[in-house]
Amino acid sequence: MERFRWIGHADLDAFYASVEQRDEPRYRDRPVVVGALPGHRGVVAAANYAARAFGVRSAMPIAEASRLCPHAVYLRPDMARYAEASREVFRILETISPLVEPVSIDEAYLDLSGLEKLFGPPLEIGRTIKRRILEQTGLTVSVGIGPNRLIAKLGSEHRKPDGLTVIHPGEVAAFLAPMPVANLRGLGRQTAKIFARLGVATVGQLRDMPLEDLERQLGRRAAAGFKRQAMGIASAELSVERNRKSLSRETTFEVDTDDPGFLHGVVGRLAGSVARRARSEALAGTVVTLKIRFRGFETHTRQQRLTVATSDERVISKAAWQLFQHGGLPRRPVRLIGVGLSHWQRSQPIQGELFAHAEAAAPDQRLLRTIDQANDRFGSGALQLGMTQTRLDPKRR
Ligand SMILES: [Mg+2]
Repeated sequence: MERFRWIGHADLDAFYASVEQRDEPRYRDRPVVVGALPGHRGVVAAANYAARAFGVRSAMPIAEASRLCPHAVYLRPDMARYAEASREVFRILETISPLVEPVSIDEAYLDLSGLEKLFGPPLEIGRTIKRRILEQTGLTVSVGIGPNRLIAKLGSEHRKPDGLTVIHPGEVAAFLAPMPVANLRGLGRQTAKIFARLGVATVGQLRDMPLEDLERQLGRRAAAGFKRQAMGIASAELSVERNRKSLSRETTFEVDTDDPGFLHGVVGRLAGSVARRARSEALAGTVVTLKIRFRGFETHTRQQRLTVATSDERVISKAAWQLFQHGGLPRRPVRLIGVGLSHWQRSQPIQGELFAHAEAAAPDQRLLRTIDQANDRFGSGALQLGMTQTRLDPKRR
């Protein structure tokens, strides 16, 4: 018997705005825009479908949004609340499949292969995912299920919001053929222009184009990549963290943004999340990674090696922000930002080494290492919680 892979892609609908509407009944029948406030500099981070009906779009300056839709509810992002909702959703996804790959705060791939006995055919699995998330979190999700990641992702985008699309292997070609080429992954502005010049508007037209013609225009590598996508060929492998080489947190914005104040805040929150997790596992890392993605999945990473291992969010946040500002990254609106910590130093330094570092390190860094030493001696977590809470109390800084 032939064994198919079934990959699911789950994507929460207008996530930030949906959480706001869920938590405040007065917003439910209204356009909701999350991002900068009218009268301030900045852009739309998320708009619900009622606001989109007025033409409010991702990355749109807030001034333009408030002109198009002055009666919308305008809200600043509340990342802590969105993160909590996201954790609930991920817990639910993990009740469906043991293999869940988070993509961002509101998006994940699931390996659904071999789950028919538990949940029924793919369509039933999709319904179960949607029902559980709605019942337990009050949020709607769009789900795509197909033989690989690409088809699953295009499936979840196919009918939004609250969509469910299952594409069986035999239906892939028909599903892709009428789709605009703009839906494919990694299609930048230059490539879009080339396709327009070639008269390639749909994925079907791209599939029918001779590879040599494409290669002349795009180069071999890109031509092969787009050809594979047009034929619906993609990986069905999920990358799931099995042994913890690094800790990272990332978030994808619904609207690309270059608002430094907003990005700095997000880096701080991501660093906080990484740091808390590191401390909960008694890890301290010496390399901080910043990951940035622009339009079209163009992704860059930058790393900084620290002189002293840390699990302090302020140290991690500062290093990540330095990489953002001085890492030679292109100055463009950002789609995704991530912060990571790796290269663990589990063993504690000898006394002399500790004091040798002490001058360069912040006082809290010394305290943290003292806590680590005490934990080593008296058992993990003995001192951690109370002192960590005190240390993080903003009023005490
Ligand atoms: Mg989403």
